[in-house]
Amino acid sequence: MQEQVLDGSDFVRDKSKVAWITAIFMTLFHLGAIAALFFFSWKNVAVAVALLWVSGGWGIGMGYHRLLTHRGFKSPRWLEYFLTICGTLALEGGPLFWVATHRIHHRNSDQPGDPHSPRDGAWWSHMGWILVGESMHSDTTRLARYAPDLAKDDFYMWLTKWHWVPQVLLGLTLLAFGGWTMVLWGIFFRVTIGLHFTWLVNSATHMWGSRRYQTKDDSRNLWWVAMVSWGEGWHNNHHANPTSARHGLAWYELDINYMMIRLLELTGLAKKVKVVKLPSKLVTAPAHEAEQHAEHQEEHQEAAGVAAYGD
Ligand SMILES: [Zn+2]
Ligand SMILES: [Zn+2]
Repeated sequence: MQEQVLDGSDFVRDKSKVAWITAIFMTLFHLGAIAALFFFSWKNVAVAVALLWVSGGWGIGMGYHRLLTHRGFKSPRWLEYFLTICGTLALEGGPLFWVATHRIHHRNSDQPGDPHSPRDGAWWSHMGWILVGESMHSDTTRLARYAPDLAKDDFYMWLTKWHWVPQVLLGLTLLAFGGWTMVLWGIFFRVTIGLHFTWLVNSATHMWGSRRYQTKDDSRNLWWVAMVSWGEGWHNNHHANPTSARHGLAWYELDINYMMIRLLELTGLAKKVKVVKLPSKLVTAPAHEAEQHAEHQEEHQEAAGVAAYGD
């Protein structure tokens, strides 16, 4: 019974039903982002970029993804909560929703049951999947089955239901200090652009780029997505080594989220940081040899994928 429930069927979306609340908010945020362009100021741009890093880098990349979903490192509870609150500012749902969806993505990558695979269409994998069916955003009872580790924590349960509250508080703060044009930039423009950057990880890095590891999914390493997502675009490295807190493995694969985790480690705020090393043979071997080598690794990688799930 329990096994049957956890196959990810809860995440299969009914394409004939529009998710109205999500659709309306997405429309409003896109219109707000366009409106922001008419009220340009360097101050507003600086606020937007800073908040883009806080929400996308600290919140989604370091918090929701590498810490909560895959447990790539350990942090004091207060810091874990702080990064999670930053994550809610990206408007990608609360922690249980995000973590559950992403664990199902790893379990069913590019297979039936993957919530957002480009095999179902590029547009679908980018944005289409959130616009239809049931969002389950605040259905904590159902989400809890996919993230039982987080469901034990009342704060995460609460924040999943009320994930929009920090955003509203931030909006009011910006309104008080910078007026409504700062709200346009710091909330509407920043959230909209940040959503597309995250969605590119689901769409572009499962279609375009290079494959260092022959994983069973279509994941790829795509430098320009890594640039706009603070390092999340080294997605083939990540699918091959899900629990590694480091995604950019070669020296030229810039991974700002890992650099920040490393900084936390140096200051004692991150412990047990899991880091996969790039096999030296892979760096120097010609492509066909590298592929053979990667095939040998596949079994080991599969095991890592499973471990990453029911953590
Ligand atoms: Zn993926
Ligand atoms: Zn992941």
